[in-house]
Amino acid sequence: MRVLLTNDDGLGSPGLLALARALRPVADVLVVAPEHERSAASHAITLHKPLRAVPAALGDTGLPAWATSGTPADCVLLAVLDLLGRPPDVVVSGINVGANLGMDLIYSGTVSGAVEATLSGIAAIAVSVASFTDIQWGPAAAFSAHLAQEVHRHGLPKDTFLNVNVPNLPAKEIRGVEITRQSARRYVNRLEKRADPRGRDYYWLTGSAEAGSADPGTDAAAVAEGRISVTPLRLDMTYEELRTSLRSWDLRWPLR
Ligand code: MN
Repeated sequence: MRVLLTNDDGLGSPGLLALARALRPVADVLVVAPEHERSAASHAITLHKPLRAVPAALGDTGLPAWATSGTPADCVLLAVLDLLGRPPDVVVSGINVGANLGMDLIYSGTVSGAVEATLSGIAAIAVSVASFTDIQWGPAAAFSAHLAQEVHRHGLPKDTFLNVNVPNLPAKEIRGVEITRQSARRYVNRLEKRADPRGRDYYWLTGSAEAGSADPGTDAAAVAEGRISVTPLRLDMTYEELRTSLRSWDLRWPLR
C-alpha cells in the first residue's frame, strides 16, 4: 500500500510526523505538505503564481517528503500529477491540530486535502485531534494507520471520503468508535474589532463553537463523549428535499 500524507498545519507539524511514524510499518509513505501552516485555507488552489515543491526532511524519518508553497489541495494535485510518478492507494490528511466537526468542514484545509484526493479518484481520510493544547498524538496516529488499511481493503464509493475526529484522551480513556453524521456545529462571536497604535480600526476573525450543536449521532456528540468519530462524506452537496419543494416556487424562464 502506497500512502500519501498531507496536512494544513505545515510540514513541521508534529501531527504529520506522528502519522508518518504510525503508517511507516504498514505502508510506503510519501509526504507532500505545505511549507507553512495553511489552516482554514479550505479548497483554495494556486492559479496566479508559480507553485514550488522542494525535497524536505520529515523529522528524522528519512521518508520521501516535499515542502510546497501551496495549499493542501495544491499539495495533493502536485503529488498526483507529478511528484509521486503514479497515484497513491490512499491519501491521509492530518493529523490536524484541532477538531474538524460540523461546519468546520467548510473552512478546513485538512478536509480539503482529502477532498482533492477524492476528486482524483483516490480513497482519502481526513484526521483531526480535538484539542489545540497538550495533544496526545498516539491514539489518532494508530487509528489512522489502521483505518488506512481498512480503506485500502474495502475501497470507498466514488466521490466519498471519511472525516475522522479523535478525542484528545489517553488511549485507555477513548470509549470506542462511532460512525457519525456531520453536526450543525458552527461558531459564534466571530469578530474582534480593535484599534491599532495609530487609531485605525482593524479586525481579527475568531469565535468559539456554538453550544448545543452536538445532537446524538453527530461528529460533535461522539467526540464530546470520548469516542472516535468517523463520518462518511460525499462531494455531492445536493439537498434532495429542497429540490422537491423548490418545484412549487414560481421559477420560470422567460420571466413574465
Ligand atoms: Mn490545521
